[in-house]
Amino acid sequence: MFRLGNWILVLGLFALFAIDSDARAADKLKLLIIDGQNNHNWAAMTPPMKATLEKTGRFTVDVATTPPAKQPKEAWDKFRPQFAKYDVVLSNYNGESWPDDVNASLAKFVRDGGGLVIIHAANNAFGGWPEWNQMIGLGWRDNKFGDRVTVDDAGTIVRTPKGEGPGAGHGPQHEFVVKTRDAGHPVTKGMPAEWLHARDELYHGQRGPAENMHILATAFSASDKGGTGTHEPMIWWIPFGKGRVFTTVMGHAMGNDITAIRCTGFQSVMNRGCEWAATGKVTLPLPESFPTDKVRIAE
Ligand code: ZN
Repeated sequence: MFRLGNWILVLGLFALFAIDSDARAADKLKLLIIDGQNNHNWAAMTPPMKATLEKTGRFTVDVATTPPAKQPKEAWDKFRPQFAKYDVVLSNYNGESWPDDVNASLAKFVRDGGGLVIIHAANNAFGGWPEWNQMIGLGWRDNKFGDRVTVDDAGTIVRTPKGEGPGAGHGPQHEFVVKTRDAGHPVTKGMPAEWLHARDELYHGQRGPAENMHILATAFSASDKGGTGTHEPMIWWIPFGKGRVFTTVMGHAMGNDITAIRCTGFQSVMNRGCEWAATGKVTLPLPESFPTDKVRIAE
């Protein structure tokens, strides 16, 4: 006969397991990906990015998808992400303006200490939203929009005023070397001084207010690859209120080609960027497979 004492023991063990798994869920950072419109194949990008983030064990990931383009106001009335429920928001969105109160709520979220992560064409969005431009620092804009920031061969930051030099663009996709510019930052710590990124668009001539911009890595934009002949920022961050905004312009995806976001280097940048934007710290180790002078594509 199974005695009462045994039942209490069994129930106690169940309770312990329940508490343990709750504690582990509570340890995870809450991340929200926003998508729904993009000149890229956002629908092919979000699921693998979500899976990459979840695989680290550090995040629980929700997705908020906007209405498609050219919808009536009623469709947008349903798009009210509860940013305050999250530690970090990742934008995979490049499309129509959001309702004003959604903009205000995202800006408040970051100002109050939330993290914001910008992937590739997400920095093309919202040219007419001043706080957004302040948060991202540099965006895909023409050369009259704002300053340009690059790094010369000696490692010195060069600021080119608006109206001078190229605006936003990129040459044909190719593999390129990413050069770490701040080896002491938690996101880049331990990364090779130079590593080869999988085939991607190398953004150049990004424009904006670029206030308090901290460049973590650059890539040389070669003239014979349709580039500018200088070192363009690839990864940077900007403080906004109590929050942190982390941008990488890497991560192009078109059709079914998601090579750039399968690069293990890109994946580490995204994973660690999200953790750091959320907490100001990085606990995620770099994988053994982090690229060096060879491109590394995740399984
Ligand atoms: Zn692209």
